[in-house]
Amino acid sequence: MRLVLVGPPGSGKGTQAERLVRQFGLMSIGTGAMLRDAISRGTEMGNQIKPLMDQGLLVPDPIVNDVVAELFRSPNRPDCFVMDGYPRTYSQAIAFDALLIQQFLNLDAVINLTIPDEEVVRRIGGRRCCPNPNCDASSYNVFFRPPKVPGKCDKCGSDLILRDDDKEETIRRRLREFHNNTELLITHYRYRNLLREVSATDPVETIFANIVRAIGK
Ligand code: AMP
Repeated sequence: MRLVLVGPPGSGKGTQAERLVRQFGLMSIGTGAMLRDAISRGTEMGNQIKPLMDQGLLVPDPIVNDVVAELFRSPNRPDCFVMDGYPRTYSQAIAFDALLIQQFLNLDAVINLTIPDEEVVRRIGGRRCCPNPNCDASSYNVFFRPPKVPGKCDKCGSDLILRDDDKEETIRRRLREFHNNTELLITHYRYRNLLREVSATDPVETIFANIVRAIGK
């Protein structure tokens, strides 16, 4: 199965991607994590994109397209996958379509997770991450997924942090950018008859059940 998850930050794309991985054995491809990894390794590209990501701005399409293309052209290219955060613009969707054709892969569905902006702002204010680059703990949320000890990572005990790109001012900018960029992308996938709309305001389990129903599994 090959899926794309679309939704604003805070819509629970990462959480649902994790469940899809567990249930269907898919590889989760999160461009946010891949780009943050380049920043923490201090690569030339990482240094170039850091100021943009700190401000909650999108990384230019050619850079993200290259990161994804490199993965798909590598010897261990993903076969069954869920894209978490890519494509995010119409131009990325066109580049991804071309890449998949080249690789003889086709998409099964694009899940659009819908949620009001104010709910996103509330949810993201509760997000916390482990800053330890050697720790593979996924992120926490003080409302939905609190750590066992408040403020501490369950896996390594580090003090959890609120990422710069999760601060309120930043999140409002990201939401504006999300709406500007995704309108055409969503229309594109609707025309291709791949789009499935799922409300992201329900409990996590219900959202997952609705996704599974929407993809016909
Ligand atoms: P995420 O972890 O998906 O919320 O992404 C965090 C940040 O990474 C975003 O605010 C962007 O700066 C950058 N990013 C992730 N995926 C993309 C993408 N497909 N296109 C452009 N920028 C991206």
